[in-house]
Amino acid sequence: MINLRSEEEIQRIRESSLLVAKTLAEVARHITPGVSLLRLDQIAEDFIRSHGGRPAFKGYNGFPGSLCLSRNQEVVHGMPSSVILEDGDIISVDCGVEIAGYYGDSAYTFPVGEVKQETLNLLRITKESLFKGIEQAVAGNRIGDIGNAVQQHAQKHGYGVVRELVGHGIGTSLHEKPEVPNYGKRGSGVLLKTGMVLAIEPMVNMGTKDVKMHRDGWTITTRDNKPSAHFEHTVVVRENAAEVLSTFQWIEEIKNKPQ
Ligand code: MG
Ligand code: MG
Repeated sequence: MINLRSEEEIQRIRESSLLVAKTLAEVARHITPGVSLLRLDQIAEDFIRSHGGRPAFKGYNGFPGSLCLSRNQEVVHGMPSSVILEDGDIISVDCGVEIAGYYGDSAYTFPVGEVKQETLNLLRITKESLFKGIEQAVAGNRIGDIGNAVQQHAQKHGYGVVRELVGHGIGTSLHEKPEVPNYGKRGSGVLLKTGMVLAIEPMVNMGTKDVKMHRDGWTITTRDNKPSAHFEHTVVVRENAAEVLSTFQWIEEIKNKPQ
């Protein structure tokens, strides 16, 4: 069953999504060469709890952290560890929050220090592909319209779009129906209706689309070990344009602040 959310429920999901956005911005202030992934995870957990939320990833299927932290060739589901960020890395920070039974989910991939231009291009195009997908999340379209828009934009730039992991419905659980693939045919799949809440999350590889599971049983990495980027928003399907419930505004204010 696919849930259609009332305005009151959407407001609850918005509150969780905005706490995710603020948490990502708080983490962004600490992303610098020399910081450990465990430290970033602790900052996120403290921030979420001190603002009345619960870190939704912590304990989810046994996941140990409050953030998924995926570096360089890691695609998603990287575990917080004693690994230290280095100049030239990229790091995907994925965060989920629950407040009073309602969930928000968002992710952003950050450059660490000085990053190669070709890698910055991957980040920019992946973020653009997220917004291309969001443009299609309107009532009367289908799930395949979202995936097709993401896929076309990423592939136009020669990138690989991950198939094995997908976006999802979200609301009173972290992961609900429907699945939201980042590829697909226009006009195919589930019909989108006003009040559906979706987490759209392109995972885009600089090289081929192929991925593998790391031996830790969680981390997904690219098969060719080239970098991968990941951006995610929680959005609600509406009549003429989707409404984005999470936001990158606070992250980007911090990123653009002169050091
Ligand atoms: Mg996420
Ligand atoms: Mg998600």
